[in-house]
Amino acid sequence: MIATDADIIFAGGGTAGLCAALALARSAPDLKVEVVDARAPNTTGGDERASAIAAAARRMLVELGVWTAVEADAQPIVAMEITDSRTGDVARPVFLTFDGAVSEGEPFAHMVPNRRLAEALREAAKSAGVRLTAPDRVSAYAVDRAATEVTLASGERRRVKLLIAADGIRSRLRTLAGIRTVTWSYPQTAIVATVAHERPHHGVAIEHFLPGGPFAILPLKGERSSLVWTDRKPYAETLVAQAAAGDDFAFMAELERRFGRRLGALSLEGKPQAYPLGLTLARDLMRPRFALLGDAAHGIHPIAGQGLNLGFRDAAALAETIVDAFRLGLDIGSEEVLRRYERWRRFDIWQMGLTTDLLNRVFSNDIGPLRAMRDLGLGIVDRLPRLKERFIGEAAGLSGELPKLMLGQAL
Ligand SMILES: Cc1cc2nc3c(=O)[nH]c(=O)nc-3n(C[C@H](O)[C@H](O)[C@H](O)COP(=O)(O)OP(=O)(O)OC[C@H]3O[C@@H](n4cnc5c(N)ncnc54)[C@H](O)[C@@H]3O)c2cc1C
Repeated sequence: MIATDADIIFAGGGTAGLCAALALARSAPDLKVEVVDARAPNTTGGDERASAIAAAARRMLVELGVWTAVEADAQPIVAMEITDSRTGDVARPVFLTFDGAVSEGEPFAHMVPNRRLAEALREAAKSAGVRLTAPDRVSAYAVDRAATEVTLASGERRRVKLLIAADGIRSRLRTLAGIRTVTWSYPQTAIVATVAHERPHHGVAIEHFLPGGPFAILPLKGERSSLVWTDRKPYAETLVAQAAAGDDFAFMAELERRFGRRLGALSLEGKPQAYPLGLTLARDLMRPRFALLGDAAHGIHPIAGQGLNLGFRDAAALAETIVDAFRLGLDIGSEEVLRRYERWRRFDIWQMGLTTDLLNRVFSNDIGPLRAMRDLGLGIVDRLPRLKERFIGEAAGLSGELPKLMLGQAL
């Protein structure tokens, strides 16, 4: 039997899919929106990470009524220190510091546990009338002139005006749509872990650029921090595998060498997790009655903590494009409407993907002359308040042609 009770179907209920679905349901209640997700409800697939949510994304979450649900668990990042050193260096000179407010009382980012954010988005989407179908997956689709027929793994089918693929970095729907990507993998793996420490972090985030990759210490609520420790692939994977097998000794010894003693003794909360890293940029963001969103459109290096923020910007731009078209009585799945979304988002996505790639190449090595040049560069930026302000604006997601939601405005 073919149901015709959705206008838009999202394949993927991660942060990007849920956020766009919520924005649509709140601003255009007459649109019927469904999110199909492969994971069982209220599970995160073991994702124990926390993410840096930029100020612009926070403005959107406030406008969407989600921020109040995560605020108690959100740690403001009030300052950021950047160092560039070798792993064994005893002293780590700070080359660059940012005092991170974009306006009075508005820090440039907050650290929020992914699990909390996903729960809050899911609850808000449900309350706004989004239909959540999980666990199930979109397995196939066929487009005709008036609609897309979507088939779920359970055998159910839907006829919709628009299918949005928010199915993550290895998007199968992107492949089914015949959208090619520019892809390469990094010889690095990110180790993600939560540590408790004796002394308070005072909301300061630290990024040590080490030869194997950036080692980021990101403040969480309480005397705890989230680590994103990027290192050479075989080395990182061995450390994580040993820790998973119950042998934390080598992991803790290597961790302490990098973390230092300024926050006192360290202890691990839970098990560290390994994330292989790569760059994937989709060449196109749409086909008729089909659009890509979030990591399905771009998977980038976590060096600047911007992947999810980029996905939030997609979500805000896509929701605004669709709502504008719907109000004008246009066909929301038409090529003309989806091209506007593609034009809006393409430059930002490629710029962010290639900038993070360049930063990783310049900083993740131990080549003497390059180290001297980058340290000189960091030192110069540190002395130029205007330039620093620009960097803060970029990190806060407040530059470029921003969708209304990112300015905290209703659609
Ligand atoms: C180590 C690390 C640290 C990071 N830190 C940060 C940070 O600090 N700040 C930041 O902004 N970003 C960060 N990121 C990036 C961020 O985690 C991702 O960009 C973000 O989680 C992507 O969200 P998404 O919704 O696009 O995709 P996903 O979270 O991958 O969600 C995809 C969903 O689709 C579902 N699915 C898959 N196939 C189907 C199908 N066929 N049908 C239905 N459902 C399907 C999956 O079950 C899943 O729920 C980090 C990334 C890494 C690796």
